[in-house]
Amino acid sequence: MIARTLFTAFKTSILPSSSSQLLPLFSSSPCRSVTTLVLAEHDSGSINAASLSAIAAAASLSKHTSISLLLAGSGPSLHQAAQHAASCHPSISQVLVADSDKFTYPLAEPWAQLVQLVQQKNGYSHVIAASGSFGKNILPRAAALLDVSPVTDVVAISESRQFVRPIYAGNALCTVRYTGADPCMLTIRSTSFPVPAKSIELASNKSAISEVDLSMLDVDSIGKSRYVKQTSPEAERPDLANARVVVTGGRGLKTAENFKMIEKLAEKLGAAVGATRAAVDAGFVPNDLQVGQTGKIVAPDLYMAFGVSGAIQHLAGIRDSKVIVAVNKDADAPIFKVADYGVVGDLFEVIPELLEKLPGIK
Ligand SMILES: Cc1cc2nc3c(=O)[nH]c(=O)nc-3n(C[C@H](O)[C@H](O)[C@H](O)COP(=O)(O)OP(=O)(O)OC[C@H]3O[C@@H](n4cnc5c(N)ncnc54)[C@H](O)[C@@H]3O)c2cc1C
Repeated sequence: MIARTLFTAFKTSILPSSSSQLLPLFSSSPCRSVTTLVLAEHDSGSINAASLSAIAAAASLSKHTSISLLLAGSGPSLHQAAQHAASCHPSISQVLVADSDKFTYPLAEPWAQLVQLVQQKNGYSHVIAASGSFGKNILPRAAALLDVSPVTDVVAISESRQFVRPIYAGNALCTVRYTGADPCMLTIRSTSFPVPAKSIELASNKSAISEVDLSMLDVDSIGKSRYVKQTSPEAERPDLANARVVVTGGRGLKTAENFKMIEKLAEKLGAAVGATRAAVDAGFVPNDLQVGQTGKIVAPDLYMAFGVSGAIQHLAGIRDSKVIVAVNKDADAPIFKVADYGVVGDLFEVIPELLEKLPGIK
């Protein structure tokens, strides 16, 4: 095994130190009251992990912040999720529930209208969603309806209107100040706002739950998308975006049949399966397993890459991984520049050996 240099990303702030000179009309004022609407996703009666990260981000906007959580859906699982939401974080002051069959599936158009309606009624200073497919689908559309510009993919919050976000496929970090009108709308990278396990445990006091008055919502006039079907990854596998261990296969696997070795190894380690875009484009696995700039952003404790060259667009999705292990037969593959441990070798020999020798999870 060849130990490789630890990965250090180029972390550059492009905001001058006296940023108020850059944007003199808008000094950021920490005293300004912060009221935040968090758009939350729920599943099987619980708020999902990415939305809990969005709540954590909202709580870090200011010491004195009031958070309202917006949930939409229909049926008993929505109300069960509202109960969970009401006690999932001490900073939540209110849970707003939109119960209608228009929200049975999280389609962007009705959701965006809902956000517009709730914002116009309550005048929040901030609106936040996690930067998954749910948030990326809804928040920019809602921002357009509210005539503001969203700040996307935030990885750190320095002040209530000053944020850090990656640029150039994650090769630099840019500090930006939001200078527009309210609401300041953000999507946040959930891996950058981890939620400690104990804070997921229910807070002692429950916040109020109220129903959103949907009588003003004209969702029938907007039917640009329609729900067709939902397919879920195998339930027993951890969710790729939040997994502790990720095993990724690249084009080096050569066929969909060979890719099953990656799945076997992941199973043995209790890991999520990831893939490069080349592997997805070659049809080895579906595109919801793609990791990278245009796929999922992951930050596991252990990231294992087999037959992955380490293209910049792939690295953009794995930079926050704690330990990266790469197996590639080409000693000059760029993945080795970011790997903590590297094996120059044939994956068709290394994976069977790992399968044989690794103990597997209990
Ligand atoms: C706008 C844009 C967005 C993109 N977004 C993404 C993204 O989100 N995610 C992403 O992954 N890519 C993305 N890409 C594509 C990216 O540029 C690369 O093409 C892709 O990551 C390459 O995938 P790969 O490493 O599997 O394939 P390759 O680059 O072909 O590398 C395969 C590697 O396997 C090794 N190998 C082959 N056989 C073996 C063997 N038997 N044993 C060990 N090693 C072996 C080779 O040495 C090689 O290094 C994007 C590209 C663009 C232009």
